[in-house]
Amino acid sequence: MVAQSTEFDSEREDMVRAQILARGIRDERVLHAFRSVPRELFLPPELWEFAYQDSPLPIEQGQTISQPYIVAMMTIALKLGPDDKVLEIGTGSGYAAAILAKVARQVYTVERHQELARLAARRLAELGLGNVLTHHGDGSLGWSEHAPYDAIVVAAGGPDVPRALLDQLNVGGRLVMPVGEGRELQKMVRVTRRGNDSFEREELGDVRFVPLIGAQGWEADEAWDGHTTRVPSRPAGVARLVREEALAFEKIEGHDLGPLLERIGDAHLVLIGEASHGTSEFYRMRAEITKGLIRSRGFLVVAVEADWPDAAAVNRWVQSDRPILATGSDTRVFRRFPTWMWRNHETLRFVEWLRERNAELRGERPPVAFHGLDLYSLFTSIQAVLEFLDRVDPGAARVARHRYACLTPWETDPAAYGRAAVSGRYRVCEREAVAMLSDLMARRLDYAERDGESVLDAVQNARLVADAERYYRSMYYGANESWNLRDQHMFDTLESLLAFHGEGTKAVLWEHNSHLGDASATEMGLRGQLNVGQLCREKYGDAAFLIGFGTDHGTVAAADDWGAPMQVMNVRPSHPESYERLCRDAEIPAFFLHLREPDRAELRLELETPRLERAIGVVYRPDTELQSHYFHASLPHQFDEYVWIDDTRAVRPVLGADAALLARSHPFAP
Ligand code: SAM
Repeated sequence: MVAQSTEFDSEREDMVRAQILARGIRDERVLHAFRSVPRELFLPPELWEFAYQDSPLPIEQGQTISQPYIVAMMTIALKLGPDDKVLEIGTGSGYAAAILAKVARQVYTVERHQELARLAARRLAELGLGNVLTHHGDGSLGWSEHAPYDAIVVAAGGPDVPRALLDQLNVGGRLVMPVGEGRELQKMVRVTRRGNDSFEREELGDVRFVPLIGAQGWEADEAWDGHTTRVPSRPAGVARLVREEALAFEKIEGHDLGPLLERIGDAHLVLIGEASHGTSEFYRMRAEITKGLIRSRGFLVVAVEADWPDAAAVNRWVQSDRPILATGSDTRVFRRFPTWMWRNHETLRFVEWLRERNAELRGERPPVAFHGLDLYSLFTSIQAVLEFLDRVDPGAARVARHRYACLTPWETDPAAYGRAAVSGRYRVCEREAVAMLSDLMARRLDYAERDGESVLDAVQNARLVADAERYYRSMYYGANESWNLRDQHMFDTLESLLAFHGEGTKAVLWEHNSHLGDASATEMGLRGQLNVGQLCREKYGDAAFLIGFGTDHGTVAAADDWGAPMQVMNVRPSHPESYERLCRDAEIPAFFLHLREPDRAELRLELETPRLERAIGVVYRPDTELQSHYFHASLPHQFDEYVWIDDTRAVRPVLGADAALLARSHPFAP
């Protein structure tokens, strides 16, 4: 076992550099521990390839192995000396115990799942770590037999620090533990024992851990048991409940959406997700719901997971009585991979509907706008800012060219800019990008008088350049940072759209479920990732209505790798432990399921226990589907409404011959 692990040596070294050292941890003993403990050996073999990811990972019994950086941060917070005796609560895989064993003299570790304790003890012994003792029991009561301890670390979140643990701490000893009023979010706290009855408490920041279940922790059987997967005890029963609560629909176009609109009520943000980026039914139902919101609820903005400049060209088309304002020299849209995500017949049909509606109601109602939220258009956006300034402020355009010159050498590969800047081989262009944005913001009012609405476009493009510059650098600090930056950018863009279109503006968002379902109710949240859905809920509460989609099987448009050609792929029937399987077992081909306040409250309770959920992006890898596409979530916390379509088909891309039939000025034209 140990011999095989050498193939991971370089990945381990990269992990130490990029995830631990880069975040400011310099303690040589701790770094040495991370360099010498093979994390892959603490995982089930099918997950070895992910061992050095910057994230927690699932282990046996539905538990998690913590993110390496979190283990490092907690180890540092314990201020361990080489002679210290440490108690760890929550052995899990045994990985953190192994790290502690390299830094301290003796480690005692307690785990409530017998099978985990057994596996961890075996792994630790195989690695020759003779200074760790593993015990199966309720760690919220500590392990009094070996007390007192110089340090205690708890790897699960409790409602407060258990009294039993404080009692087992030496005077001068440190206890580090996540504490939170709810089960989902905690603050890391450090308690130092100053005297027999005196304790000093400090807060070290927000974290997300699975719950500490035990006599001095949370009760075992509440519905939200963190990351625990339980195979549903009465699958037929829950599926029957779903069946009874579901509102079936037989067709997508022309179905009466009145009841759904009633449930949406006066929410002014409706977030409509999708479980893949290539399923026709998701696009079509999303368009139908959106039309209903525009027609009868006064929605005025459709904001989608697409590039800002491309959506801006579509926006000009759907409002085309206005003068066409050039942003970017090319008005042809959705040409970068994955083209089929927006350049498809389903989107085209909606765009045409929007244009007709705006034309019909011209003069009576403000037109409905179409905007892009994403940040992948760094260079088109630079071009758009320059063209805007050339028109309104040639002096500022010269300064802009000079500043953006820092980024332009990287046009063909912006990720390479990030790599070069992070490694110190090329200078960071942040100052220039931010200065451009601040200048535009400062002169916004001035420009507005001269050039009307295109100022919004220019400012958004400048914001995008500044955020994208950071995004490409952040990719080298880990998946969480870049994910969060992207979703924060999309949320900030939404905020500026709402501000621009005026108080009370109602907006519909179209993005993948993973952006629009509340991340804090999913495994992403446990990894420290936030998303647009969560940010909308945090800011707007019930005024944001979150709709998710799901399917069991059929076909999907996707590629087998990033940048590879689109294929129509078969979608595998859903995993037995997933929400999708539950919906399939309800035996209704298509339905709405209201989750926010269902008629029968037990629906929420039954669905609340986390299960697997599938997410297919622009890449689909059916062969490694479980690892690549399933994650844990608590559906009724993630969405207010779920739309189920059992059997689905791939979107139809707008190909050359179809595009040739469009008007020459049409943004989808060839
Ligand atoms: N340190 C672990 C590692 O490196 O793999 C990760 C620990 S995991 C985040 C939390 C663990 O705490 C789970 O394995 C869970 O079963 C365990 N746990 C929860 N409540 C517990 C309790 N009262 N006593 C002992 N273990 C508990």
